[in-house]
Amino acid sequence: MKGKKKWYDYLWIASLAYLILGFFNIFFAWLGLFCFFIPLAIAVVKGNKAYCNKYCGRGQLFSLAGGRFGLSLKKDIPGWMRSGYFRYGFLIFFFAMFFLMLWNTWLVFAGAKNLGTVVTLLWTFKLPWHWAYHGALFSDGVAQFAFGFYSVMLTSTVLGFLTMVLFKPRSWCVYCPMGTMTQLICKAKNVTSSQKQ
Ligand code: SF4
Repeated sequence: MKGKKKWYDYLWIASLAYLILGFFNIFFAWLGLFCFFIPLAIAVVKGNKAYCNKYCGRGQLFSLAGGRFGLSLKKDIPGWMRSGYFRYGFLIFFFAMFFLMLWNTWLVFAGAKNLGTVVTLLWTFKLPWHWAYHGALFSDGVAQFAFGFYSVMLTSTVLGFLTMVLFKPRSWCVYCPMGTMTQLICKAKNVTSSQKQ
């Protein structure tokens, strides 16, 4: 018999709401920072992957769409996708793109570049998104970060859905940069604590 559902089993609703809200007002994209800092904080403080195992709404969304809603072919993920080369290579690439996004945000903050009201999908396709920007009390850089961060979140969701359709529902988790990073932190933390004993 399945156990009783806990509040955190419904965090997929928050992940879905995040994507929808960013469609109407780009400033909601800032909330995505929780998905960056909470997993890192749990890994650093607790040395475990409780975030991935319990609290990740995105992972739950893939389980639900690929599992219960049958949107996944449920094939085994290819070996190369599990390899360290691919996972760490993707992590490096992801961070390079992330820092490029931060650099562009900085240029807008500094007045060297105009605000771009587009969302960049898969680091390539510029989708018009001006309807989600209604002006701001703050510097344009605040909005630029929101557009950039939403691009990161949408890109990773699209990649995750593609991988979910082609392989098993949570195949994205094999190479998700947050998962790889928290795994590295947990490994480092566990090595340090075993050395202390
Ligand atoms: S690997 Fe990524 S998507 Fe999967 S549960 Fe962890 S943080 Fe969420």
